[in-house]
Amino acid sequence: MQWAHPGDFRQVHSPTLLMLLVILLGIMALTQVASWYLSRRVPAQVFWAGAYLAAFLSAINMLTRSYQPEIALIIGVQITQFLTAYLMLMGARSYMGLKPWPFRYAAAAICALVAIALFFTLVEPNSAVRVILSSLVVGVLFGLCAATIAQGDIRRFPARYLFALPCSIHATFILLRLMYIYQADGFAGDLTQGATIPPFFLLEAVITLVMMAFATLMLVSETITSDLRKLAETDHLTNTFNRRSFLKLFDGAVSAANRRQSPLSVLLIDLDHFKRINDTHGHGVGDSVLRHFVAIAASCLRAEDILGRIGGEEFSALLPDVGPADAQLIAERMRIRVAELAFNGPQGPIHLTVSIGIAQCLPGETPEKALHRADAAMYRAKESGRNRVESWVEAWQLSGTI
Ligand code: GH3
Ligand code: MG
Ligand code: MG
Repeated sequence: MQWAHPGDFRQVHSPTLLMLLVILLGIMALTQVASWYLSRRVPAQVFWAGAYLAAFLSAINMLTRSYQPEIALIIGVQITQFLTAYLMLMGARSYMGLKPWPFRYAAAAICALVAIALFFTLVEPNSAVRVILSSLVVGVLFGLCAATIAQGDIRRFPARYLFALPCSIHATFILLRLMYIYQADGFAGDLTQGATIPPFFLLEAVITLVMMAFATLMLVSETITSDLRKLAETDHLTNTFNRRSFLKLFDGAVSAANRRQSPLSVLLIDLDHFKRINDTHGHGVGDSVLRHFVAIAASCLRAEDILGRIGGEEFSALLPDVGPADAQLIAERMRIRVAELAFNGPQGPIHLTVSIGIAQCLPGETPEKALHRADAAMYRAKESGRNRVESWVEAWQLSGTI
């Protein structure tokens, strides 16, 4: 690859670009801080806000290069550019639920970079080696950042890839800059050399840092949206699906069962004499008993089954690919477990039983209809003495029972 001689860039617009970079980074740092301050939901944003503050300081440092001693400038650039890349990576790790690296790693890396900078400035002046070493570190950190965040299905998590893209472009350019410095004899690539900063690299930094800022904000909004969606779909007390989202999932399960021509069983579970538990032990204990029941019910179900709270002490479970015989076994196992595992209340064990109705979802019918039949079976179980499992049989409809 042939680079133009660095002298070509002497009268270019690096100062204008640098000014632009300072302004943009200032705005981006402020936006990150404000966005974190307003939502405080995504801890990664603290790191990203830090990364943009460091980048802002780095750009200010370069802009004011003629007003400070060379060594201060070099050390400033080393620290701020390292911190930008490091904090961007820690943000990505935090976002992906990985532990940020211990701070002593960053401290050790900064000490090493400063020592290298001092050595190759004061003892054995060689700006090429200095810049090559620090660029390598920064380039690798941005590369790691891209690799950390580019996980999962791109259609489900587009913002992750929108963040990984500028990170990898930036990493590539930083590493390309190494080649440039190498070729230009260690002179032009040194950002501290003022007028010789190739605008090409500055422009790249402006574009990728702006793209990264947009992507981080999208990542934050993606998280907040999914948190809110979860909040809207979940019953807060028991952490199961609420009635509305359960019925929506039910619709989807009916369509899938029709498509695959596979069975779909529905259980309707009602806690027996729950009012008594509330009356005897108080509403708070009643709430804990509901959670206790959900833990047992969940332990009887598979990952693909769906459990929802459809009324006060009424729950429903959807069992895809489960026919009548297996549904009976699952419901029976749940009934027995609930009866065996008493809840440890403040005044001793509280025994609990459930009545369960089972129905099969018929092709093309609405969830409400299937639930209605499961409900009828559950009432049968209540009438027959509670702590029982009943399956809906067509004969009831024929005999006019429901
Ligand atoms: P049955 O065996 O016939 O179902 O009797 P039951 O007492 O369970 O049924 P009933 O419908 O008479 O009472 C249901 C009770 O559930 C009444 C209501 O106070 C209680 N309940 C509903 N939602 C909650 C809740 O969120 N927390 C608590 N602690 N109790 C609730
Ligand atoms: Mg009840
Ligand atoms: Mg009830």
